[in-house]
Amino acid sequence: MLKTIKLSKTMALKSKPLTRTKIKIIENTIEAYKEILSIALDFGLKNKRKSHRKIREGIYEEIKNKYPKLPTHYIYTASQDASTRIKSFISMKKRGKAYTETPEVRNVSLWLDDILFNYKDFKTNIEKLFSIDKEGKKTLHLRLSTPNGRIVIPLKPHKQFFKVLNEGWKIKAGFKLILNKEDGTITILIPLEKEITINDDYKAVYALDFNLDNITYGNFENIEMIKADLGKLTEKYSNIMANIQEKFSFKGIHKQEKPLKRKGFILLKKFGRRLKNIREDKLKKLANKIAKELKEKDAVLIIEDLSSYFNQNIAKKSFKKLKHKLHNISAKKFLNYLKNKCLEFGVKVVEVNPAYTSILCPNCGNRLSQLYKLADERALPLRLMYCFDCEFYADRDAVAVFNLIKRFMGLYPFSPKSNEPIAEGTVFPMKLWVEDNPFP
Ligand SMILES: [Zn+2]
Repeated sequence: MLKTIKLSKTMALKSKPLTRTKIKIIENTIEAYKEILSIALDFGLKNKRKSHRKIREGIYEEIKNKYPKLPTHYIYTASQDASTRIKSFISMKKRGKAYTETPEVRNVSLWLDDILFNYKDFKTNIEKLFSIDKEGKKTLHLRLSTPNGRIVIPLKPHKQFFKVLNEGWKIKAGFKLILNKEDGTITILIPLEKEITINDDYKAVYALDFNLDNITYGNFENIEMIKADLGKLTEKYSNIMANIQEKFSFKGIHKQEKPLKRKGFILLKKFGRRLKNIREDKLKKLANKIAKELKEKDAVLIIEDLSSYFNQNIAKKSFKKLKHKLHNISAKKFLNYLKNKCLEFGVKVVEVNPAYTSILCPNCGNRLSQLYKLADERALPLRLMYCFDCEFYADRDAVAVFNLIKRFMGLYPFSPKSNEPIAEGTVFPMKLWVEDNPFP
């Protein structure tokens, strides 16, 4: 069955530096908005009103008298803002996660409805809003209603913005405005929406396991492993960075005291950025390739749900912290790219709880043991995992793939056994589960 769903995302566009007068006007508008918001929150909480309409009705007269020049639609949006904050505050309180008596108003962005700026043009005729500036760059004009009348804010659209529009994303109502005092600019948050059809009638089930060195995906019939080599890449770059640190620092009296020279700072920043770019580029390309393949196979994709599980797991294993942190960040990034790509291609994605998926036997559910191989009188850990109960064995990453699929299907025990012969010289450890690697 084909299902239509709506995807949404938010894109930020920054303005050019604005004149001091415009900044002042926007600042005053935000101040007034903040005030209305806190009045609206007070009113809603005292009178137990959650709906934005009820809140608005309750505060309208008072605000109108206090700010006669302010466009009345700011009262509408502040009431909506308050209603959202009250609802989320109540639900946090229910879950015991609210630590204050009333919702705190710390970060205020100006909520804009379709009357408070030229929304219609954004929605239906965005091409008309562009003009070419002196440097030949396209500028997008937002006309904002303020107590001082409409002011024009020139926005700088980036490449990504045009790309997203070309991909069929539609601009939605509900813009938000943030003032950046440091550089005298504003940021506009633009909600986008896209309708896509998802194939719920999949012909194959695929699961995917991510780690820094490999991305493993497949099912019981067929497993693919792509070398990601992010671990190696990071190692290479951290060596480069250590060299920079060494070469470009002032030699202090104490060994630890080596302040970095300016040149060193610049180089460190440059290589740090380069590493990040290479990593992200690599992850995006892999996500694209895999999503395409899944679409061709009419597959549903099962991935681990990273939202709750990861943090506690990382905290436990504080050794190798950096690698874990990097794994965490990269896994989240990659799985997000992949989820978005899959959705774009209409491939259904299901997230399942990954707890124990890498250490339980996909065949019988018992704990797997890591195998070791004898080399030069030293036992080296192998990637193979072995089950002493049912003699199942498979590569560590494949185990996770099998288990994710089983968790998705809600079935245990079933799995084909691995047919590969175990390599000569393999040592079967007597301990069922090796918590600490005895051969660091
Ligand atoms: Zn087993």
